[in-house]
Amino acid sequence: MEVCSKCGNHKVIIKRKQSGQALCENCFIENIQKKVIKTIKKEKLIDKGDKILVALSGGKDSVAVLDILHTFYEKKVIDISTVTIDEGISKYRDEGVKIATDYAKELGIEHEVISFKDSFGLTLDKIMKKSNHRGSCSYCGVFRRWIINKSAKKLHANKIATGHNLDDETQAILMNYLEGNIHNLSKIGPKIESKVFVPKIKPLREVPEYEIGLYGIAKNLNIHRAACPYAKTSFRMEISQIMKKLSENHPTIMYSTLKGFDKIKTAIKNQYRNSNNFSRCKVCGEPSSSSLCQVCSFLKELNNK
Ligand code: SF4
Ligand SMILES: [Zn+2]
Ligand SMILES: [Zn+2]
Repeated sequence: MEVCSKCGNHKVIIKRKQSGQALCENCFIENIQKKVIKTIKKEKLIDKGDKILVALSGGKDSVAVLDILHTFYEKKVIDISTVTIDEGISKYRDEGVKIATDYAKELGIEHEVISFKDSFGLTLDKIMKKSNHRGSCSYCGVFRRWIINKSAKKLHANKIATGHNLDDETQAILMNYLEGNIHNLSKIGPKIESKVFVPKIKPLREVPEYEIGLYGIAKNLNIHRAACPYAKTSFRMEISQIMKKLSENHPTIMYSTLKGFDKIKTAIKNQYRNSNNFSRCKVCGEPSSSSLCQVCSFLKELNNK
């Protein structure tokens, strides 16, 4: 039996290709928690007295964020509430909603489920039947961000914590770069601050997706494991496959992509510093850079079909 390179006692559950480190269950859990706390401190993601809304889908990433924030921060420094978005994806979302609801209840944390149907009169399934020129994730991301931001304001939360992991961040960097969308690139980072939107924090940003999944198993967390049926058609999925393939022979490639990006992100942000002039959407009143926000312009387009 191969034993843990840290404690020298227990059976190894992970061997890291990039460092050669081999860890047992307990040492691995501790290692991930320390890594997340280090990111939180380094990037100054949490301040005393924060009220944080966790976007809790029931998937491994958001469950792990809630687990770590609740264990290490809630009693001492912050107040947590949770929101789950029901996009209306049949045979997929219900299980995640149930897992998220049960987990928030188990921790005694405020929780609300908000659906696309109640908010916009349309489920994502219905939207995809009506639309023929835009990918599901474009609608889903825009609609979900709108609900989460509104919910955070209603709850007087001053930050939104999301479960974005290392894979998500590097995918976003590559996708936006390859699409030439440098303005969107300027919005990527551990803490997304804005004068008009509730700031977002990403405590898991430096942890690979695989390790978050393993953390959930090691901690015996109940997690929604199914994949969204729309995910396989997305550009993000293509990028994800490329990065996974590259990681086989270059195990540090995601870390170096993130580190490289972090070195140039301030310069990119400065380029766009004065270009984010927000007013209010004339229909919903939410912040928008044009007279109609993206949600209302999508709804206008969909309702005319
Ligand atoms: S994969 Fe796309 S459609 Fe599915 S939940 Fe994620 S953003 Fe929404
Ligand atoms: Zn150990
Ligand atoms: Zn609007």
